[in-house]
Amino acid sequence: MFTALTGRSVLVTGGTKGIGKGIAAGFAREGTSVVISGRDEEAGQQAAAELSSAAAASGGKVRYISGNVADPGSCAGIVAAAVDFGGGLDVVCCNAGIFPAAPLREMTPAQLEEVLAVNLKGTFYAVQAALPALSESAHGRVIVTSSITGPITGFTGWSHYGASKAGQLGFVKSAALELARSQVTVNAVMPGNIITEGLGDLGDDYLRTMEASIPLRRLGSIEDIANAVLFLASDEAAYITGQTLVIDGGQTIPESLEAMG
Ligand code: NAP
Repeated sequence: MFTALTGRSVLVTGGTKGIGKGIAAGFAREGTSVVISGRDEEAGQQAAAELSSAAAASGGKVRYISGNVADPGSCAGIVAAAVDFGGGLDVVCCNAGIFPAAPLREMTPAQLEEVLAVNLKGTFYAVQAALPALSESAHGRVIVTSSITGPITGFTGWSHYGASKAGQLGFVKSAALELARSQVTVNAVMPGNIITEGLGDLGDDYLRTMEASIPLRRLGSIEDIANAVLFLASDEAAYITGQTLVIDGGQTIPESLEAMG
């Protein structure tokens, strides 16, 4: 049904764990060259080896490049490595993100700055570094991992995180306009609660409560997000830009628990 992505060059920031690793696995299975980045060298090398062997049959290949998206120089290095590995760059997935809880009354300027630097500024830095290469691609795509938290919902302790995720959507709209002249599309996925290493850290109680509030009665999987990202990267999605796609099992639909029936 969809045109194959074989041979495309893809960068997934934060592709060493969780949702990003799922996105990278999806692209690698499609026979693309994928660079995954993150700060933890051991986890990154392990993920690249695992994803490469899983994708070998389809011709996909995966390389880990160490980098911090909160540092513009580091983003330039990651992008250069992706261009070198894939012979150009077609898809940039701005996925790296952190979600440490901090109630507003106690939040320090350093805590606020860290979340904005990684989640929001990191999106800018990665895309800015990739602009020249994306402009030369015939299939240029930027796909941002935002969240339902911030743009649609709120959560006590995550005001800084929610602001960073809503900020990413503001970025998407204007960036979509600026990149349209190069035929590069810019879109965002908005996951609900997806089972990842990061979410697991929030504890069993959190996970069970969340599950109960989701109409489809399960937390999302990393494959649920990867499938949406692969669609947005496809040739068939070439006319979609500046848009968002909620993937949350219906979590943001009910007005109250009673509404779920
Ligand atoms: P995760 O399992 O903790 O993975 C986060 C990834 O980002 C890791 O690869 C991590 O690698 C990388 N990362 C973190 N800080 C970085 C930095 N400064 N520079 C480069 N890489 C960095 O988290 P996740 O749950 O998959 O979340 C991924 C994205 O999805 C985030 O943007 C998050 O906001 C969004 N999201 C998640 C959920 C969910 O339910 N899980 C829901 C909505 C949105 P290192 O630690 O090695 O740097």
